[in-house]
Order: sequence, then structure tokens, then C-alpha cells
Amino acid sequence: MKYIGPDFCNITTLLTDEELLIQKTANEFVTKEFIPLVNEYYEKGSFPVDLIPKMGELGFFGATLPKKYGGRDADLKTYMLAASEIGRYCGATALTFNMHVSSCLWTGYLADNLEMDDEKRNEHNNLRGMHYERILKKGSIYAQPFSEGNASAAGKSAFGTTALRTDKGWIINGKKIFASLSGHANYYGVLCTELFSENSPPSRANTMYVAVPSSQEGVRVEGEWDPLGMRGTVSRTLIFENVFIPFNEQLMPRGIYYNAAKQWPHMFMTLTPSYVGLAQACYDFTVRYLRGEQPGMPPIKRRMYPTKQLTVAQMKIILEQTKAIWFQSISEAKPNPSKDQIMRAWSAQYSVMENVNEIARLAIRTCGGQSMLKSQPLERFYRDSRCGALMLPWTAELCLDMIGKGALYEHGESDEN
Ligand SMILES: Cc1cc2nc3c(=O)[nH]c(=O)nc-3n(C[C@H](O)[C@H](O)[C@H](O)COP(=O)(O)OP(=O)(O)OC[C@H]3O[C@@H](n4cnc5c(N)ncnc54)[C@H](O)[C@@H]3O)c2cc1C
Repeated sequence: MKYIGPDFCNITTLLTDEELLIQKTANEFVTKEFIPLVNEYYEKGSFPVDLIPKMGELGFFGATLPKKYGGRDADLKTYMLAASEIGRYCGATALTFNMHVSSCLWTGYLADNLEMDDEKRNEHNNLRGMHYERILKKGSIYAQPFSEGNASAAGKSAFGTTALRTDKGWIINGKKIFASLSGHANYYGVLCTELFSENSPPSRANTMYVAVPSSQEGVRVEGEWDPLGMRGTVSRTLIFENVFIPFNEQLMPRGIYYNAAKQWPHMFMTLTPSYVGLAQACYDFTVRYLRGEQPGMPPIKRRMYPTKQLTVAQMKIILEQTKAIWFQSISEAKPNPSKDQIMRAWSAQYSVMENVNEIARLAIRTCGGQSMLKSQPLERFYRDSRCGALMLPWTAELCLDMIGKGALYEHGESDEN
């Protein structure tokens, strides 16, 4: 399979050379290194341990870090495009890649584009150097376990994972569910609530973002991982039991994550490229299959049936609509976007996460029985495609909720007298 970036988003003319290079490198990596092995990892539901370090060697893990620290200054959009290339071949790898890159983007590109007073800015610059050195010099991988199985990941309550402040650092206690990269990351970028005494009430304003070394005493991974889709993410449960971390393990100064989450809503779109890639993969598969060109299948053409042509047309239209709103939305990502831009970001998220499953469904229906055998990737794409709409904080349901309210109410309006 060749690099088909120009056909993929139909946006080549809008990309800078650096964006194109990173997208192309991502495509070459997955097609050469990943495709031969991906089914094996998938079936076992195991983590692609041999391949992830190779992504590090190619410079993917440090690409979004600021240049002055040794990164490549890749911004949110560049990351999104590269990750969508990975998602075309393996949604699970794209998703785990997201968890690491998000840790870099929050502390790098986003923080650099956020208002901070000089004191906070200096504090942040002092803190992040150590994390960036680990990533760039030691190949460290940071995971992003935010979800807890309560209302916190949806932004509706304080995180139940707590960081009790002591003289030398914090004592972390809590549980994170669906922690992609669990057992494989070197550091867990944990959102937690700082407590100043054991009995102080948790408040969202005291949200902290800290790195917990995976080897630290009191950190453990538990539970099964046997999900419907996205099996290679190995998103098991993380437990923190009286885990001590020193003050310099902060990823952002206190209070900054809380502001960043409010000012940078597009940041919550970072899960979408895995699914944009999957949507493209389902369409590409269908075209190859109906033309009798799918590797591993007899070269039987099925393209001459009008019903197949209609379904492919339908898939193409949904795909183009999805990519168009997605590309517009990732292109206008910035701090403090307008109301229209935020509503479009929710609409883009909803469109990607729902449409990918619709495209996968149509692909299986029109290609037929042999296409969903486990020897073919479509079955995996179909299962992976179901997971996108469930990802907090912008699940498909919550997007509908926010879009409906946003359309009918202006800020501060209510129907109560
Ligand atoms: C493959 C995979 C990998 C993942 N990796 C990570 C990871 O690395 N890090 C991480 O932090 N999380 C990760 N997640 C978790 C994910 O983001 C969600 O937190 C998780 O799927 C939520 O599951 P739940 O059953 O607890 O959801 P619940 O909170 O019970 O929500 C169930 C549904 O109810 C709706 N809902 C939730 N809250 C509200 C509300 N306030 N109002 C109205 N409706 C609501 C939503 O639509 C949601 O889909 C991953 C999930 C998957 C599937």
C-alpha cells in the first residue's frame, strides 16, 4: 500500500511541508512495520511492545514538544493528521499514541498558547524540562489516565483520586479505569484533586496534573482486559495506594490544567484522528474488496452490482462530510474559541465518532460474509469503530447534550423565574 496522503484528506495544498512530512512518516511506519503484526496483537488483546519503541526512534513521541526543548514544535493539527494516518491501519495504536501525545500537548503547545503570569510561566518552564528530557533522551512514554468511573472525566465533579500535600510532595490515592498503556507506560499523567488535609473537601478548582512513575511503590495495574474493540490499547485499571511523589513531578503548575480545559476545548478532540483513520480504512477496504483487489482474497470483482455502487457512494459521502467538518474544526483550534467554533468542535466530534461506525456497518453489509472473517481487517475496524462514541469527556451523547443546550441558550440564560 502506498502513501495516499493527498487523497486522504484532500487537503495537501493546505498543509505545510513539516505537517506533510510528519503525516508521511506516520504512514510509512504503519504500512511497513505495523501491518504484518497487527492481527497478532489484536487477537491476544496485548500491547504492541515491539513496535512502540520504534515509533520513539522515528521521533514521534517528542514531535509535539517545543523546539527549544529538542522537539519539533508539531502543533495540535499536525498531530491530528499524523495520528489519523496511524488510525487507518491500527486504531488501537493511534489511540495509545494519543495518550502520550496529549501529555506533551497539554504541557507544550497548549500551555505555550495560554495566558499565564510570569511567575506561573517560569514555574511551568522549570517543571516541564525534566519530563521532556525523559521523553527525548530516555524514550519515556507518558500515559493519560483521567477516567475514574464517576462524573469527573465528564468534567462534572472533582477527581476522586487525591493528592494529599505534605512537606516534601504529595501522597496519591485513587483508582483510574480504562488506563490505556497501563503496565507499559513509564509515567502516568494523572489528574487528581489536591487536598491540604485529609478532611478537606475536594474541589475541581484544586485539580492537579502530575506524573506518577510507574515503578513507584504503591502503583499497581489490575483487572482483565478483554473488550469488544481497541484491544491493543490494554486499558486496564490503575490503583494508587499511598504513592509518594515529590513536588517536581507536576506536569503543570497548580490551577493551570483547570484553566486550560476551559480555554482549550479543542484539546478534547485528540481522540478523533484514530477514528477518522478507521473510517477511511473501512472505505478503502470496501473499494479494494469490490474491485477484487483485497490481499488474501480471490480476485473476484463485485463492483458491477448497482446496489454495491450505491452503498460505496453513500459511504464516500458520509466520509467526505466527516472529514470536512473535522478538518475545519482542527484547523480553527485555538484558545478561547468563539461559540460557533466550540459548537462546531462538538459537531465534528459527534460526526466522527458516530459516522465511523456507520461507515463500518455499511462496509460489512455491502462486502458481505467473507469480508468479516477474522483473517480480514474489516472485522477489527468494525469492532474498533464502536468505541469512539463512548470516550469521555465528549461522548456522542454528551456532544448532543451540549450542542442542543448551546443552540437554544446563550451564556447565563435560564428558564427559571
Ligand atoms: C478503548 C478505550 C480506551 C480508553 N482509554 C482511556 C485512557 O487512556 N484514559 C482515560 O482517561 N480514559 C480512557 N477511556 C475511558 C473513556 O474515556 C471513558 O471514561 C469510559 O469509556 C467511560 O465509561 P463509563 O462506563 O464509566 O461511562 P459513564 O460515565 O458511566 O458514562 C456512560 C455514558 O453515559 C453518558 N454520560 C456520562 N456522564 C454524563 C452526564 N453527566 N450527563 C449525561 N450523560 C452522561 C455518556 O454518554 C457515557 O457514554 C478509554 C475507553 C476505551 C473504550
